[in-house]
Amino acid sequence: MKFETLAIHDGQAPDPRTGAVSVPIYQTSTFQQDAIGKFREGFEYSRSGNPTRQALEAALALLEGGKHGLAFGSGNAATIAALQLVKPGDQILASDDTYGGTYRIFEKILRPWGVDIRYVDASDTAAVEAAIGPKTALIWVESPTNPLLKLVDIAALGALAHRRGLLLVVDNTFASPYLQRPLELGAHVVVHSTTKYLGGHSDVIGGALVTSERDLYDPIKFYQNAAGAVPGPWDSWLVLRGIKTLKVRIEEQQTTALRLARFLEAHPAVERVYYPGLSSHPQHALAKRQMRGFGGMISLQIKGGFPAVERLVAKLKLFLLAESLGGVESLLCYPPKMTHASISPEERARRGIHDNLIRLSVGLEAADDLEADLRQALQV
Ligand SMILES: *Cc1c(COP(=O)(O)O)cnc(C)c1O
Repeated sequence: MKFETLAIHDGQAPDPRTGAVSVPIYQTSTFQQDAIGKFREGFEYSRSGNPTRQALEAALALLEGGKHGLAFGSGNAATIAALQLVKPGDQILASDDTYGGTYRIFEKILRPWGVDIRYVDASDTAAVEAAIGPKTALIWVESPTNPLLKLVDIAALGALAHRRGLLLVVDNTFASPYLQRPLELGAHVVVHSTTKYLGGHSDVIGGALVTSERDLYDPIKFYQNAAGAVPGPWDSWLVLRGIKTLKVRIEEQQTTALRLARFLEAHPAVERVYYPGLSSHPQHALAKRQMRGFGGMISLQIKGGFPAVERLVAKLKLFLLAESLGGVESLLCYPPKMTHASISPEERARRGIHDNLIRLSVGLEAADDLEADLRQALQV
């Protein structure tokens, strides 16, 4: 079956008791036991398991082509859970263009805990291989990356990880499982912020993790219950609902995004556009091979530095200035002061996150209206 059919039917089957076509929200903390140690359907307490969350976990596993899904209270909670696969003394090789919150977890939580993190340009597979040391245990990448929309060759890294006995974790938030399925390319674990495309409506915070390997799933599942950063039934349901329209949202958003990226690239006030769907993108060929489409995220540098950024933000009417992405409304983010504020200015400059960089998340508004909004705001 095709993705969109799976997204609606599997993992979200009608309720066997009532026939309700939408998964019920089991807003309960605990479950009555028939006798001591005898649980109906295996549920005992909603931190350990809840039917609405279980439906979400099953749906996520299915969409990523994996065997086991785990849902969390946020993307960061899912990230921390995946990082339980390393221990003090281990080293992580991380792409140098990761989500700011992930970088903060690496530097402020894992490093003090005794895990070494080394940053590499993961879009260069040879550089990753050269950086592997005796302590390296795990490779952590995003693709496309945030905010520069660089790609990593997941299949090549997957082959490398298998050859060298390392774990490969891919944060698939920017692509979503509709555009890219890292497990099929050799990743061991996929991580998501379901807050973004999977939820899709800017109304819920959530995270997820999918794997096909029982020996990775078991310890993370244990951690999920022990640490307790689980999503509630209502939040789980919101993500389940978002998943049903993932395909149509992304198709529409990426059609608009390509058009806007071309418009911006041709605009005299724009210095540079980053979008994997443009033939000027250095990894356009890889994007075509690795992804089903190019997604709804665009980054750009505009001429005139920070004052020009401030003017643009003030003039835009449809692109809302806000953190996050992947929702139905178009958003604008200024990474140096927002998502990437926790990174030092020197480190930001080294990574190419310049003071004139803007990130756009293209929503579901009419492409004509969005283009007109950008056109009027870019006028000097
Ligand atoms: C937002 C985001 C996260 C963190 O997710 P939260 O739901 O905000 O905790 C992790 N990775 C990427 C790529 C993100 O965009």
